[in-house]
Amino acid sequence: MAGSVLVVGLGGTIAMTSTAGGGVAPKLSAQQLVDAVPGLAATGIEVQATTFLNRPGASLGVGDLVELVRIIEASSAAGIVVVQGTDTIEESSYVLDLLHGGDRPVVVTGAMRNPTQAGADGPANLLAAVVIAASPEARGLGCLVVMADEIHAARRVRKGHSTSTAAFASPNGGVLGYLVEGRARFVNRVDGRIRVPLPVGSPSVGVCVATLGDDGATVGVLAERLDGLVVAGFGAGHVPEGWVDGLTAAAKRIPVVLASRTGAGPVLRETYGFAGSERDLLGRGLISSGYLDAYKARVLLHLTLAAGFDRERIAATFAVAGNG
Ligand code: ASP
Repeated sequence: MAGSVLVVGLGGTIAMTSTAGGGVAPKLSAQQLVDAVPGLAATGIEVQATTFLNRPGASLGVGDLVELVRIIEASSAAGIVVVQGTDTIEESSYVLDLLHGGDRPVVVTGAMRNPTQAGADGPANLLAAVVIAASPEARGLGCLVVMADEIHAARRVRKGHSTSTAAFASPNGGVLGYLVEGRARFVNRVDGRIRVPLPVGSPSVGVCVATLGDDGATVGVLAERLDGLVVAGFGAGHVPEGWVDGLTAAAKRIPVVLASRTGAGPVLRETYGFAGSERDLLGRGLISSGYLDAYKARVLLHLTLAAGFDRERIAATFAVAGNG
């Protein structure tokens, strides 16, 4: 196997070492991470490394990822690997999927165990990510997340465990493939990838989660301060009856997207008829997120607003992106 891959370091557990004050914090460069991977030279893949940031995943922002897209676009490598904190991979990978043009693979990876721990998973994840980024089969699939030898579509992947090395899953539709005997094996496809132009604004977009007995006061206050709101409803897209008037008013002023807080499965359209049901809310002007979970929906709403899309275009974009 040959090809060239650029590894861009953003920080995260994979790059963390012990600090004088206790605990671990990001410190290692992308080159140090690459140098620590056994078996990388034997792949024949030409690897270059650059450290863009060294931060925990929690402190990355959309602006950082826009800069990263520019780094990716300026590179002539056949594939790109982004190394970052796993805490925000499910969102950052979707930002990259939406913003990066072209067919070159962009593969995001990280580690659940830091390099000071027994069984640190960083080197294996980085090796797998480099191999997949160099694979012709990965071209045209947008941004992929590779963890624990599994290949996930950015649009579907979720972090479902706070510590396990098997923390990542794609509950809607399953993984796209695996790393097997040092090669990418794709067993599944995802269609209908969309792209959004680079941001020209920085809207304020929030997520409000429906919870048992919530009287709707918080969602009302929140909606007044935002340019776009994602509601993570119960089940197939339901909220307490007391939220309905506030959401109806909000949807007249800003785009309000209805997602499910469950983390898998779609928002329904025409099943339930009670006040606060998905039928009721969609009829009042909320936009369905379809299969996109609330965090992905927030990414898409943020980027479409930032690109200057109006409500109609945002709704049309969600209809495609939320389709599975
Ligand atoms: N636990 C996180 C990680 O896996 C920390 C972070 O996101 O920076 O990298």
